[in-house]
Amino acid sequence: MEHQPLQGNIFNIQRYSLHDGPGIRTVVFMKGCPLRCRWCSNPESWLSAREMYYDAGKCIGTEACGFCLAACGRGAIADDPVSGKVKIDRGLCVQGCLDCAAVCPSRSLDVYGRLMTVEEVLKIAGEDSLFYQRSGGGLTLSGGEATAQIGFAEALLAGAKRRRIHTAIETCGYSPWNHFSRLLPSLSMIHYDLKSLNEQAHLQFTGVSPRLIKENLERLSRSFERSNIIVRTPVIPGFNDSAEAIAEIAEFVSSLGGIRHELLKYHRYGSVKYGLLGRSYELGQEELSEEKFAALTRVAAQYSF
Ligand code: SF4
Ligand code: SF4
Repeated sequence: MEHQPLQGNIFNIQRYSLHDGPGIRTVVFMKGCPLRCRWCSNPESWLSAREMYYDAGKCIGTEACGFCLAACGRGAIADDPVSGKVKIDRGLCVQGCLDCAAVCPSRSLDVYGRLMTVEEVLKIAGEDSLFYQRSGGGLTLSGGEATAQIGFAEALLAGAKRRRIHTAIETCGYSPWNHFSRLLPSLSMIHYDLKSLNEQAHLQFTGVSPRLIKENLERLSRSFERSNIIVRTPVIPGFNDSAEAIAEIAEFVSSLGGIRHELLKYHRYGSVKYGLLGRSYELGQEELSEEKFAALTRVAAQYSF
Protein backbone atom coordinates (compact mmCIF):
# COMPACT_ATOMS: atom_id res chain seq x y z
CA MET A 1 0.00 0.00 0.00
CA GLU A 2 1.30 3.45 -0.91
CA HIS A 3 2.41 5.54 2.05
CA GLN A 4 0.32 8.71 2.44
CA PRO A 5 2.30 11.73 3.67
CA LEU A 6 1.06 13.31 6.88
CA GLN A 7 -1.31 16.20 6.22
CA GLY A 8 -2.50 19.06 8.38
CA ASN A 9 -5.68 21.08 7.97
CA ILE A 10 -4.60 24.71 7.56
CA PHE A 11 -7.01 27.60 7.16
CA ASN A 12 -4.51 30.38 6.59
CA ILE A 13 -0.81 31.01 6.17
CA GLN A 14 0.09 34.60 6.87
CA ARG A 15 3.49 35.82 5.76
CA TYR A 16 5.32 38.92 7.01
CA SER A 17 3.56 38.96 10.37
CA LEU A 18 5.07 41.27 12.99
CA HIS A 19 2.81 40.38 15.92
CA ASP A 20 3.19 36.67 16.56
CA GLY A 21 6.67 36.41 18.00
CA PRO A 22 10.01 38.12 17.37
CA GLY A 23 10.96 39.52 13.97
CA ILE A 24 9.22 38.88 10.68
CA ARG A 25 7.26 35.64 10.82
CA THR A 26 5.16 33.20 8.85
CA VAL A 27 2.09 32.24 10.85
CA VAL A 28 0.39 28.92 10.13
CA PHE A 29 -3.23 28.88 11.31
CA MET A 30 -4.36 25.33 12.03
CA LYS A 31 -7.94 24.13 12.28
CA GLY A 32 -9.48 22.57 15.35
CA CYS A 33 -9.89 24.02 18.84
CA PRO A 34 -11.28 22.57 22.09
CA LEU A 35 -12.42 26.01 23.32
CA ARG A 36 -15.34 28.15 22.18
CA CYS A 37 -14.30 31.60 23.38
CA ARG A 38 -17.16 34.01 22.81
CA TRP A 39 -14.82 36.69 21.49
CA CYS A 40 -12.85 34.36 19.19
CA SER A 41 -11.60 36.22 16.13
CA ASN A 42 -11.05 32.98 14.21
CA PRO A 43 -14.34 31.05 14.45
CA GLU A 44 -13.41 29.31 11.19
CA SER A 45 -10.78 27.47 13.21
CA TRP A 46 -13.15 25.75 15.62
CA LEU A 47 -13.98 22.58 13.71
CA SER A 48 -11.18 20.23 12.78
CA ALA A 49 -12.89 19.44 9.46
CA ARG A 50 -12.87 21.65 6.38
CA GLU A 51 -15.87 23.94 6.47
CA MET A 52 -18.11 25.70 3.93
CA TYR A 53 -18.89 29.41 4.29
CA TYR A 54 -21.16 31.71 2.33
CA ASP A 55 -20.43 35.37 1.56
CA ALA A 56 -23.63 36.76 0.05
CA GLY A 57 -21.84 39.92 -1.04
CA LYS A 58 -19.94 37.92 -3.67
CA CYS A 59 -22.90 35.93 -5.03
CA ILE A 60 -23.75 36.87 -8.62
CA GLY A 61 -27.37 35.75 -8.20
CA THR A 62 -29.43 32.66 -8.92
CA GLU A 63 -30.79 33.98 -12.19
CA ALA A 64 -27.34 34.36 -13.70
CA CYS A 65 -25.84 31.33 -11.97
CA GLY A 66 -27.65 29.06 -9.50
CA PHE A 67 -25.04 26.29 -9.89
CA CYS A 68 -25.05 25.61 -6.15
CA LEU A 69 -28.79 24.88 -6.12
CA ALA A 70 -28.25 21.98 -8.48
CA ALA A 71 -25.07 20.83 -6.72
CA CYS A 72 -26.59 20.41 -3.28
CA GLY A 73 -28.21 17.01 -3.05
CA ARG A 74 -29.41 17.72 0.49
CA GLY A 75 -31.69 20.62 -0.32
CA ALA A 76 -29.68 22.84 2.03
CA ILE A 77 -29.49 25.69 -0.50
CA ALA A 78 -32.58 27.50 -1.69
CA ASP A 79 -33.33 30.44 -3.93
CA ASP A 80 -33.96 33.63 -1.95
CA PRO A 81 -36.47 35.63 -4.01
CA VAL A 82 -35.98 38.71 -1.84
CA SER A 83 -32.24 39.11 -2.47
CA GLY A 84 -32.07 37.20 -5.75
CA LYS A 85 -29.26 35.19 -4.17
CA VAL A 86 -29.33 32.02 -2.06
CA LYS A 87 -30.12 31.13 1.52
CA ILE A 88 -28.61 28.19 3.34
CA ASP A 89 -30.22 25.87 5.85
CA ARG A 90 -27.23 24.84 7.96
CA GLY A 91 -29.35 22.19 9.65
CA LEU A 92 -29.53 20.26 6.38
CA CYS A 93 -25.92 20.84 5.34
CA VAL A 94 -23.57 17.87 5.66
CA GLN A 95 -20.27 18.79 7.24
CA GLY A 96 -17.34 18.14 4.94
CA CYS A 97 -19.47 17.82 1.78
CA LEU A 98 -18.38 21.10 0.13
CA ASP A 99 -20.00 20.24 -3.25
CA CYS A 100 -21.53 23.71 -3.56
CA ALA A 101 -18.19 25.44 -3.03
CA ALA A 102 -16.68 23.33 -5.80
CA VAL A 103 -19.08 24.76 -8.40
CA CYS A 104 -19.41 28.36 -7.21
CA PRO A 105 -17.71 30.57 -9.82
CA SER A 106 -17.49 33.70 -7.65
CA ARG A 107 -16.20 31.96 -4.50
CA SER A 108 -19.23 33.25 -2.69
CA LEU A 109 -19.42 29.71 -1.38
CA ASP A 110 -15.94 28.71 -0.34
CA VAL A 111 -14.05 26.54 2.11
CA TYR A 112 -12.11 27.22 5.28
CA GLY A 113 -9.34 24.66 5.54
CA ARG A 114 -6.85 23.13 3.15
CA LEU A 115 -5.01 19.85 3.59
CA MET A 116 -1.27 20.39 3.30
CA THR A 117 1.82 18.29 3.92
CA VAL A 118 4.67 19.34 6.17
CA GLU A 119 6.88 19.84 3.13
CA GLU A 120 4.31 22.10 1.46
CA VAL A 121 4.08 24.34 4.51
CA LEU A 122 7.85 24.41 5.00
CA LYS A 123 8.34 25.33 1.35
CA ILE A 124 6.19 28.43 1.85
CA ALA A 125 7.86 29.26 5.15
CA GLY A 126 11.29 28.74 3.62
CA GLU A 127 10.68 31.45 1.02
CA ASP A 128 11.14 34.08 3.73
CA SER A 129 14.31 32.66 5.31
CA LEU A 130 16.23 35.80 4.43
CA PHE A 131 13.72 37.94 6.36
CA TYR A 132 13.92 35.59 9.33
CA GLN A 133 17.70 35.86 9.38
CA ARG A 134 17.68 39.63 9.16
CA SER A 135 14.92 40.20 11.71
CA GLY A 136 15.26 37.27 14.11
CA GLY A 137 11.90 35.97 12.91
CA GLY A 138 10.65 32.52 12.02
CA LEU A 139 7.63 30.25 12.00
CA THR A 140 4.66 30.48 14.39
CA LEU A 141 1.93 27.86 14.75
CA SER A 142 -1.41 29.38 15.61
CA GLY A 143 -5.04 28.49 15.17
CA GLY A 144 -7.34 27.27 16.37
CA GLU A 145 -5.21 25.21 18.66
CA ALA A 146 -2.14 23.76 16.98
CA THR A 147 -1.84 20.96 19.55
CA ALA A 148 -5.23 19.67 18.36
CA GLN A 149 -3.30 18.35 15.32
CA ILE A 150 -0.44 17.11 17.43
CA GLY A 151 1.21 14.75 14.92
CA PHE A 152 1.31 17.39 12.21
CA ALA A 153 2.38 20.16 14.59
CA GLU A 154 5.21 18.00 15.92
CA ALA A 155 6.45 17.10 12.43
CA LEU A 156 6.18 20.69 11.20
CA LEU A 157 8.09 22.17 14.13
CA ALA A 158 10.74 19.46 13.92
CA GLY A 159 11.14 20.14 10.20
CA ALA A 160 11.49 23.87 10.84
CA LYS A 161 14.06 23.25 13.54
CA ARG A 162 16.10 21.06 11.17
CA ARG A 163 16.13 24.03 8.79
CA ARG A 164 17.29 26.26 11.65
CA ILE A 165 14.09 28.31 11.60
CA HIS A 166 13.07 29.93 14.90
CA THR A 167 9.79 28.34 16.03
CA ALA A 168 6.93 29.58 18.19
CA ILE A 169 3.47 28.41 19.13
CA GLU A 170 0.38 30.31 20.22
CA THR A 171 -1.62 28.00 22.45
CA CYS A 172 -4.77 28.10 24.56
CA GLY A 173 -3.08 25.63 26.90
CA TYR A 174 -5.98 23.18 26.87
CA SER A 175 -4.30 20.00 25.74
CA PRO A 176 -2.96 16.82 27.37
CA TRP A 177 0.47 17.46 28.84
CA ASN A 178 2.10 14.86 26.60
CA HIS A 179 1.11 16.99 23.59
CA PHE A 180 3.20 19.84 24.94
CA SER A 181 6.07 17.56 25.90
CA ARG A 182 6.19 16.28 22.30
CA LEU A 183 6.54 19.82 20.96
CA LEU A 184 8.99 21.28 23.46
CA PRO A 185 12.18 19.86 21.88
CA SER A 186 11.40 21.75 18.65
CA LEU A 187 10.08 24.99 20.14
CA SER A 188 12.01 28.22 20.60
CA MET A 189 9.16 30.24 22.13
CA ILE A 190 5.68 29.78 23.60
CA HIS A 191 2.84 32.29 23.63
CA TYR A 192 0.44 30.95 26.23
CA ASP A 193 -3.09 32.27 26.69
CA LEU A 194 -4.33 32.53 30.26
CA LYS A 195 -7.75 34.10 30.09
CA SER A 196 -9.07 33.76 33.62
CA LEU A 197 -8.54 31.76 36.79
CA ASN A 198 -12.21 31.99 37.69
CA GLU A 199 -13.68 28.52 37.17
CA GLN A 200 -17.24 29.66 36.58
CA ALA A 201 -16.42 32.60 34.29
CA HIS A 202 -13.95 30.54 32.24
CA LEU A 203 -16.47 27.75 31.80
CA GLN A 204 -19.20 30.16 30.82
CA PHE A 205 -17.16 32.19 28.30
CA THR A 206 -14.88 29.51 26.80
CA GLY A 207 -16.75 26.26 27.38
CA VAL A 208 -14.00 24.66 29.50
CA SER A 209 -12.52 24.83 33.00
CA PRO A 210 -9.20 26.71 33.43
CA ARG A 211 -7.72 23.96 35.63
CA LEU A 212 -5.84 22.04 32.93
CA ILE A 213 -4.60 25.32 31.42
CA LYS A 214 -3.22 26.43 34.77
CA GLU A 215 -1.62 23.04 35.45
CA ASN A 216 0.03 22.93 32.03
CA LEU A 217 1.48 26.40 32.54
CA GLU A 218 2.93 25.33 35.88
CA ARG A 219 4.51 22.29 34.23
CA LEU A 220 5.81 24.38 31.34
CA SER A 221 7.44 26.76 33.79
CA ARG A 222 9.44 23.79 35.10
CA SER A 223 10.18 22.25 31.69
CA PHE A 224 10.91 25.14 29.32
CA GLU A 225 13.13 28.21 29.42
CA ARG A 226 10.89 30.69 31.25
CA SER A 227 12.26 33.74 29.50
CA ASN A 228 10.92 32.21 26.27
CA ILE A 229 7.36 31.91 27.58
CA ILE A 230 4.98 34.85 27.23
CA VAL A 231 1.61 34.56 28.93
CA ARG A 232 -1.08 36.61 27.26
CA THR A 233 -4.45 37.62 28.64
CA PRO A 234 -7.05 39.01 26.26
CA VAL A 235 -9.09 41.54 28.22
CA ILE A 236 -12.74 40.91 27.46
CA PRO A 237 -15.65 43.12 28.58
CA GLY A 238 -17.92 41.38 31.07
CA PHE A 239 -15.52 38.45 31.44
CA ASN A 240 -12.20 39.47 32.97
CA ASP A 241 -12.10 43.28 32.71
CA SER A 242 -11.86 43.89 36.45
CA ALA A 243 -8.81 44.80 38.52
CA GLU A 244 -9.43 41.71 40.69
CA ALA A 245 -9.50 39.28 37.75
CA ILE A 246 -6.37 40.74 36.15
CA ALA A 247 -4.51 40.92 39.46
CA GLU A 248 -5.31 37.25 40.17
CA ILE A 249 -3.85 36.18 36.81
CA ALA A 250 -0.83 38.50 37.05
CA GLU A 251 -0.05 37.32 40.58
CA PHE A 252 -0.18 33.69 39.49
CA VAL A 253 2.13 34.31 36.51
CA SER A 254 4.49 36.25 38.76
CA SER A 255 4.58 33.33 41.21
CA LEU A 256 6.03 31.12 38.47
CA GLY A 257 9.07 33.39 38.20
CA GLY A 258 10.69 34.89 35.11
CA ILE A 259 7.68 34.61 32.78
CA ARG A 260 6.46 37.71 30.97
CA HIS A 261 2.79 38.61 31.08
CA GLU A 262 0.99 40.77 28.50
CA LEU A 263 -2.56 42.00 28.21
CA LEU A 264 -4.25 42.06 24.81
CA LYS A 265 -7.01 44.55 24.16
CA TYR A 266 -10.37 43.16 23.06
CA HIS A 267 -11.36 43.73 19.44
CA ARG A 268 -14.22 42.57 17.26
CA TYR A 269 -12.19 41.91 14.09
CA GLY A 270 -13.52 38.40 13.53
CA SER A 271 -17.19 39.08 14.19
CA VAL A 272 -18.16 39.25 10.50
CA LYS A 273 -16.94 35.68 9.96
CA TYR A 274 -19.61 34.33 12.31
CA GLY A 275 -22.26 35.40 9.80
CA LEU A 276 -20.41 33.71 6.93
CA LEU A 277 -20.44 30.47 8.93
CA GLY A 278 -24.11 30.75 9.88
CA ARG A 279 -23.29 31.38 13.55
CA SER A 280 -23.99 34.31 15.82
CA TYR A 281 -21.42 36.45 17.63
CA GLU A 282 -22.40 36.12 21.27
CA LEU A 283 -20.43 38.95 22.82
CA GLY A 284 -22.74 41.65 21.49
CA GLN A 285 -21.64 45.25 20.99
CA GLU A 286 -19.64 45.72 24.17
CA GLU A 287 -16.39 47.65 23.84
CA LEU A 288 -13.36 48.05 26.08
CA SER A 289 -12.26 51.67 26.48
CA GLU A 290 -8.62 52.71 26.10
CA GLU A 291 -8.75 54.17 29.61
CA LYS A 292 -9.95 50.95 31.19
CA PHE A 293 -7.39 48.89 29.30
CA ALA A 294 -4.61 51.25 30.38
CA ALA A 295 -5.75 51.01 34.01
CA LEU A 296 -5.77 47.19 33.87
CA THR A 297 -2.34 47.21 32.24
CA ARG A 298 -1.09 49.18 35.24
CA VAL A 299 -2.63 46.58 37.56
CA ALA A 300 -0.82 43.76 35.76
CA ALA A 301 2.44 45.74 35.72
CA GLN A 302 2.50 45.78 39.53
CA TYR A 303 3.27 42.06 39.42
CA SER A 304 5.79 42.07 36.56
CA PHE A 305 9.46 41.49 37.24
S1 SF4 B 1 -21.76 21.72 1.71
FE1 SF4 B 1 -22.90 20.12 0.62
S2 SF4 B 1 -24.73 19.76 1.89
FE2 SF4 B 1 -23.84 21.72 2.54
S3 SF4 B 1 -24.91 23.27 1.36
FE3 SF4 B 1 -23.04 22.77 0.21
S4 SF4 B 1 -23.65 21.13 -1.21
FE4 SF4 B 1 -25.27 21.29 0.33
S1 SF4 C 1 -22.93 29.10 -7.14
FE1 SF4 C 1 -22.12 30.84 -5.98
S2 SF4 C 1 -22.45 32.64 -7.29
FE2 SF4 C 1 -23.75 30.97 -8.09
S3 SF4 C 1 -25.74 31.30 -7.09
FE3 SF4 C 1 -24.61 29.84 -5.82
S4 SF4 C 1 -23.56 31.14 -4.28
FE4 SF4 C 1 -24.24 32.49 -5.94
